[in-house]
Amino acid sequence: MKHAPFADRSPGSIALVGAGPGARDLLTLRAVARLAAADVVFYDRLVDPEVLSLAPQAEHVFVGKEVGAHSWPQDRINAVIVAAALQGRRVVRLKSGDPSIFGRACEELDAARSVGIAVEIVPGITAASAAAAALGRPLTERGATDRLVIATATCKPGDPDPELAALLTPGTTLALYMAMHRLPLLVAQMLAAGHDPALAVEVVGSASTSREAVLRCTLANLVARVAEAVLGNPAILLIRHPKAAAVATRRAIALVV
Ligand code: SAH
Repeated sequence: MKHAPFADRSPGSIALVGAGPGARDLLTLRAVARLAAADVVFYDRLVDPEVLSLAPQAEHVFVGKEVGAHSWPQDRINAVIVAAALQGRRVVRLKSGDPSIFGRACEELDAARSVGIAVEIVPGITAASAAAAALGRPLTERGATDRLVIATATCKPGDPDPELAALLTPGTTLALYMAMHRLPLLVAQMLAAGHDPALAVEVVGSASTSREAVLRCTLANLVARVAEAVLGNPAILLIRHPKAAAVATRRAIALVV
């Protein structure tokens, strides 16, 4: 069965729209169309004002966390977006990057579906992709890093530790979201797991925006270099464990033994 495009359906709908990493021209055409057709846009902290300007006709409602204040609880956000859609409004729930990556989209999809509101995901450019563009290098490299692992260092409160060191197997680029506040612990865990202190680490702050900043360092000096750098938030970490490094390490060990 072919579905009608979302914007053509009867009013009273929710679109979880990827706002991309910040730059206004890193939205999809579909995201721009949903914003132009919206009656109300619910947005949070990481969404750049430039992106909101793509919906001048809509009401803009901030549902994020102001500095020093409490953030909106997720169930309150679910309630307000569903209530607006039930009033027959076209709701855009604007989320940074791609809404399906660390965006708590499940809760909002469930809330909409539980009351029979039409809901869709409009994909966006995730922070890792924007970071690669900032660095001018790809996330994967044939023969060196054949695997891209996207992970968060911040799980649901009460969940077990994400065990990130185990994800960094040879041939992997590890893109770490929400990691900046726990770098010392992260580095300690990586080194304790036997990772090479010389592994290349890149940190990109505010990728794609005018505040974009890049730091290239190693696992060993990551904490010190971040402390002296002006990176700001948000920032993402890319840790590379190329296959060649693993081969070199094995060779070195073989020579020593
Ligand atoms: N859904 C988003 C991720 C939300 S989690 C996405 O797909 O990108 C929030 C984390 O994303 C931040 O802590 C940071 O690690 C990362 N992030 C978001 N925007 C970023 C940007 N412009 N530059 C660097 N990191 C960013």
